[in-house]
Amino acid sequence: MGEILTMKQRKARKEHKCTLCGSPILPGREYMYYSWVNDCRIYEGRFHIHCDAMLDVFMTEFCVDDEYDYDDAACALREEGCEKVCTYEEREECTLDLFSCERCLRKLLPPTVLGAALRSVQENKVDET
Ligand SMILES: [Zn+2]
Repeated sequence: MGEILTMKQRKARKEHKCTLCGSPILPGREYMYYSWVNDCRIYEGRFHIHCDAMLDVFMTEFCVDDEYDYDDAACALREEGCEKVCTYEEREECTLDLFSCERCLRKLLPPTVLGAALRSVQENKVDET
């Protein structure tokens, strides 16, 4: 990631795909929009509120420098983040993706963003009925 050009909280007018976790950001939900420039190219990304919070955790907890891409970040969080906070037994029985796992979010996220993050997980659950 290079220099940030735009960083905004927005409301989705149509469905987007989260740049980090790959799940849908549903219409009407709040999300974080970023655009940045890297090697003279402009990139943009849209993130669930909870995924944006997880990215912060990723950058502080995993001590990464600026040179990472979101696939790597998502991978590292899914593997190591979950391993860090959950016991072996918990992981054995857990079928959730880290980014939608309330237990992981509760353990990983600071209290200041936890409320908004949990709300975001709930709101973006695709209704399977
Ligand atoms: Zn996401």
